[in-house]
Amino acid sequence: MLRMPEFEVHQPTTAAEAVALKAELADALYVAGGTDLLPNLKHWLHEPRHLVSLASVSEMNGIQVRPDGSVTIGAATTLHAVATHDHVVAQLPGLAQAVGSIAGPQHRRMGTIGGNVMLDTRCLFYNQSLPWRQAVGYCLKKDGTWCHVIGSAKACVAAQSSDSVPMLAALSAQLCFVLPDGETQRIDLVDLYTKDGRFEQNHTVPEHALLTAIELPAPTEGHRSVYRKVRARGAVDFPQLSVAVAGGFLSDGTCTSLSVVIGAMLPFPKVLPGTDVAVGTSLPDEVIEALATRAAKQARPQAQIHGSPDWRRHVAGVETHRGLRDLRDRASSVV
Ligand SMILES: Cc1cc2nc3c(=O)[nH]c(=O)nc-3n(C[C@H](O)[C@H](O)[C@H](O)COP(=O)(O)OP(=O)(O)OC[C@H]3O[C@@H](n4cnc5c(N)ncnc54)[C@H](O)[C@@H]3O)c2cc1C
Ligand code: SF4
Repeated sequence: MLRMPEFEVHQPTTAAEAVALKAELADALYVAGGTDLLPNLKHWLHEPRHLVSLASVSEMNGIQVRPDGSVTIGAATTLHAVATHDHVVAQLPGLAQAVGSIAGPQHRRMGTIGGNVMLDTRCLFYNQSLPWRQAVGYCLKKDGTWCHVIGSAKACVAAQSSDSVPMLAALSAQLCFVLPDGETQRIDLVDLYTKDGRFEQNHTVPEHALLTAIELPAPTEGHRSVYRKVRARGAVDFPQLSVAVAGGFLSDGTCTSLSVVIGAMLPFPKVLPGTDVAVGTSLPDEVIEALATRAAKQARPQAQIHGSPDWRRHVAGVETHRGLRDLRDRASSVV
């Protein structure tokens, strides 16, 4: 049996109260659905003395769609509610695909979109039981000094592996935080993640910052989006690599904007540069080929996730190709 460290649970009812509690209590962590945090506690990856539960903070729950099509998703909204929301399914299909591919149905009814955005990075040498990690002498991310993946004491390259994150990045999402001093902070989602995979060093926001909402701008005219997820098992599995593509299209099929984001590769989502070559075209095969080749060249997967880095790099190109073809043909599928 895997036992958890002992902790006390606190149940604030407002975001302000939650941040104040987190800042005031020593060794406290937020818990939303607990679908990632609680397994991690069983592995003694964190040893908090207090958990500040977000389950009763009703102001952080729900999805609001404005007349112009912009959307606010409360951070404590369940993954199931996001993936099955009428507006999301009809207008932001890539987001419904990405969130609907997370874990299994039970996890999606407990797990929240905020917990997914704030998810701890993952690594084969870290997401293991305490005796397993002890046997290899721990690692730089927790209790050790050495990264077994890159063979150095300098950096942790554990992967940001949340399925919602590459798609939210492709949709230009912004994040709203409440800080301990009562101030609010709004940042682009792509600016949240650092190059350091270590817990509490992977995010750019101040310590104790509470994610309260995710803001999505009004979709571009003729919005299309597709999420491609590669995983070892067909269900209940984290991505080995993922590609989110989103773009705007005129009625004649001319592309007016394009974004490609690769996930589960580095401690941050990788935004593919140079996608503007597609603007003004109808995504002909040669443009898709060029972007897929660039994705494979720019991909830098590490051996922190199952599947060799060379194979995952190849997959980055293949899935970018498939995603762009799906986008052009308005088809959609999750691998
Ligand atoms: C078997 C299994 C399979 C899984 N498969 C996938 C998968 O395929 N894809 C995937 O993306 N995830 C997967 N997960 C992970 C997890 O289920 C999801 O990422 C889920 O969205 C986490 O949300 P949560 O509300 O449960 O977060 P929690 O576990 O409660 O919290 C996760 C982290 O976020 C922090 N946090 C939570 N909410 C906030 C907030 N509002 N502000 C600041 N910090 C916050 C917590 O302190 C914690 O560090 C899987 C988990 C399991 C157990
Ligand atoms: S990437 Fe290295 S330091 Fe980071 S969790 Fe994996 S082994 Fe540890």
